[in-house]
Amino acid sequence: MPKRNVNYCSFCGRAEHEVSLLLPGVNGFICNECAERAHELSQEFLNKFNEAKLTDLDFDTLPKPLEIKNYLDQYVIGQETAKRYLSVAVYNHYKRLAQNKDDVDIEKSNIIIVGPTGTGKTLLAKTIARLLKVPFAIVDATVLTEAGYVGEDIESLLTRLLAACDYNVKEAERGIVFIDEIDKIARKGDNPSITRDVSGEGVQQGLLKLLEGSVVNVPPAGGRKHPEQKMIAVDTKNILFICGGAFEGIERKIAMRLNTHVVGYGSSSHIKQQDREKLLHFVAPQDLRSYGLIPEIIGRLPVLTNLEPLDRDALRRILTEPKNAIVKQYAKLLEMDGVKLVIEDAVLDFVVDKAIEFKLGARGLRSIFETIMMDVMYEMPSRDAKSFTLTREYAEEQLEKSNFEMLKNSI
Ligand code: ADP
Repeated sequence: MPKRNVNYCSFCGRAEHEVSLLLPGVNGFICNECAERAHELSQEFLNKFNEAKLTDLDFDTLPKPLEIKNYLDQYVIGQETAKRYLSVAVYNHYKRLAQNKDDVDIEKSNIIIVGPTGTGKTLLAKTIARLLKVPFAIVDATVLTEAGYVGEDIESLLTRLLAACDYNVKEAERGIVFIDEIDKIARKGDNPSITRDVSGEGVQQGLLKLLEGSVVNVPPAGGRKHPEQKMIAVDTKNILFICGGAFEGIERKIAMRLNTHVVGYGSSSHIKQQDREKLLHFVAPQDLRSYGLIPEIIGRLPVLTNLEPLDRDALRRILTEPKNAIVKQYAKLLEMDGVKLVIEDAVLDFVVDKAIEFKLGARGLRSIFETIMMDVMYEMPSRDAKSFTLTREYAEEQLEKSNFEMLKNSI
């Protein structure tokens, strides 16, 4: 008979002095070892359960590249090349997942998109995510550091993906990860050993492991590793990685390479005449290398495409054309108050002009338009008006009233 006043594990029967920890429950106790075993068993069960739950991709009903591109067209203006590349990559990703494993092994084609900030990299990723039938996560490379340093470990990329599918490991293993600002982990100098480069080459080496396809132990809650935390093993073999980055200044590397490749003296002049921006069209893997990405990483990102800088025409279209265009959103907001919004064409030109003048790009369109509409949104719901016409004079006045400099600095 167990002695009085001594507590025992209700599962293995050991006394409290025989175990490291005895946790009390409503009607009994559990020791640390039994708790750990229970955790392992439930984890095994859940994995099996999740495996059974893996939704089958019906290849016939999956969107084709043309359909994916058409969908992107509804939300993203221009960027034809990148849209095509993305559509094909996503479709091929589905194909790989659906393929008969005994057949030819289709290798995955991770993608890298180079383009100035605010031209739609994240927007493309987010839009495609909405259409996808596989888990999708967007992560920012700037927070990543080499294991052991302040910041997030590389594995946290996969934690996000796991979170996107309720920790269903099998689903996550065929997901897509968009890594933004990949250029920020470029090697800082030519000789990384002189100064510590914890967020540069070290991170690239870590990332390489994921891109190559390996089984990675992922901390479930993300962030920093905890010694006692149970890891989740995730195989990255079938995860598609899409990377994006502004690679500011890469035009210079492209120009340098193009010049050196031109034979003869006078013949390089046509390149000098090229807009710096147009040079991005010619971006090649060597340029990424000169920029500071290690060759192994570049080799694992075989699809390289670029985004165009947005010109005046594109900015103007962004204001009105996308399905969730800012102008449409405001019209909807006012419509809910019974007010019809009429906007003079000149207002749109004015907003675009200001976005260009302040060098704010597409991101600025929204802030400028919001500033102009502030008073209207404040007053209209309490008025008895049926419509409101936004004129250029009114728009200029409103923007004048607000603090331009503040607006510029806040974006
Ligand atoms: P980045 O290339 O820096 O990731 P984003 O995709 O975040 O830029 O773009 C910022 C914002 O600008 C988007 O939320 C969107 O409103 C607008 N925008 C940028 N590019 C486009 C585009 N090509 N078509 C429509 N909207 C765009």
